[in-house]
Amino acid sequence: MPSRKKFSCKFPECANSYYWSKGEANTVVNKRFYRFPKNSEISTKWKMICGIDININCRNIYICEDHFYKQDSVNFNKHLLNPNVIPKHIRISDLVTVQTAAFTTSQ
Ligand SMILES: [Zn+2]
Repeated sequence: MPSRKKFSCKFPECANSYYWSKGEANTVVNKRFYRFPKNSEISTKWKMICGIDININCRNIYICEDHFYKQDSVNFNKHLLNPNVIPKHIRISDLVTVQTAAFTTSQ
């Protein structure tokens, strides 16, 4: 069953996308994605970090979980971010990979 790409993470150089496939109960593959915050001051910060024009309507723009820490969530299971959180300048998954590799090497 081919998956259909619905939208992509707008963080620079991030290749994560959200897929869903009909017939498989809209199975979500890959990452959690977060909408831009309603607070215009915070969402402007998000746009600046992501290199998006601040005048662009961000209603359909998403950022994936790689740019947030788990503790950035108010409720991780419900995909609720702390309202004042901004995406990190690094990709968290890369950081974790590096740390894991270093840890493995030192064993
Ligand atoms: Zn991303």
